[in-house]
Amino acid sequence: MNRVKISKNGPEFSQFAFGIWRLLDDPKGTSPEWVKEKVDACLEAGITTIDSADLYGDYKAEIAFGNFLNTYPEYEDKLEIVSKCGIQYCCDTRPDTRVKYYDYSKEYIRFSVEQSLEKLHIKSLDVLLFHRPSPLMNPKEMALACNELKSEGKVKHFGVSNFTHTQMEMLGNEMELVTNQVEAHPLHLTPYLDGTFDLNVKLGISPMIWSPLAGGRIFNPSSESEKRVFEKLSELSKKYEQPIDVLVYSWLLRHPSNPVIVIGTNKPERILLTKKAKEVSWDIQDWFDVWSSSTGQEVP
Ligand code: NAP
Repeated sequence: MNRVKISKNGPEFSQFAFGIWRLLDDPKGTSPEWVKEKVDACLEAGITTIDSADLYGDYKAEIAFGNFLNTYPEYEDKLEIVSKCGIQYCCDTRPDTRVKYYDYSKEYIRFSVEQSLEKLHIKSLDVLLFHRPSPLMNPKEMALACNELKSEGKVKHFGVSNFTHTQMEMLGNEMELVTNQVEAHPLHLTPYLDGTFDLNVKLGISPMIWSPLAGGRIFNPSSESEKRVFEKLSELSKKYEQPIDVLVYSWLLRHPSNPVIVIGTNKPERILLTKKAKEVSWDIQDWFDVWSSSTGQEVP
């Protein structure tokens, strides 16, 4: 499995990251032993990067993953751990939150990181991402919080998620950012078109791509566009002799920004499929055929 130096001074990640957003949805539960089986599948596939966020599973997914790390502490050094902060979400673990909102005050950034470290049973985060841009975010205050966290050894690198290219430039003016984690897949082409990936290429920063399989929607099409994409991928799946998930991963990897793909499956056998993505060599016309099946028209 390829390693990706995600930016000039940033960390080295695996080409795929294992996302723990759906960890608590797993019908097989979250026992440390079962989480270990999934992480072992990741390691077998060369996946060492874990993608988390403070609020996953109503702020409880990090507790479950932390139980695994606490039971098997030798895994901490084998993994790079990414977490996120900023979204304040209404749920039973946050009884004082009346409305969903974003908080990038220095105090809240620090609070969130310290909570994540405690829940995950680790000493530092490899990367902290600001989860979603806020209309009220103050880059200077955010940079101040990050400088403190870095000098205290609590966070090694910082990045953003779901930021536009201008928001990334604004914050990047105050501090070094190592990635922008965004949604991209054949049903969501926005970052290819709105300058997001252009800025990544310009700055030599690998984006992280979330929901590469559209959260599973790629396999269960409902709209006309989704049906066209599914039909096209099914046809190409036969041509390339690869399952649809592998085909989509490799379609995403074709982009010159060298993205890190954040997978969300809870099934070890599907984690292992990522190994095959690099085997696919896309015919450029097929790549555009998938693109056009999504937009419903040829490129101009
Ligand atoms: P995804 O890979 O697009 O979707 C995963 C879902 O697809 C799972 O429910 C999985 O079910 C299903 N699936 C996978 N392979 C399948 C197959 N062959 N047939 C049918 N269903 C299949 O990724 P995601 O979970 O939506 O997102 C991945 C990660 O991105 C998250 O864990 C999180 O870390 C990150 N994320 C970040 C943001 C952000 O704002 N930064 C937002 C959303 C997500 P099984 O478990 O049964 O395989």
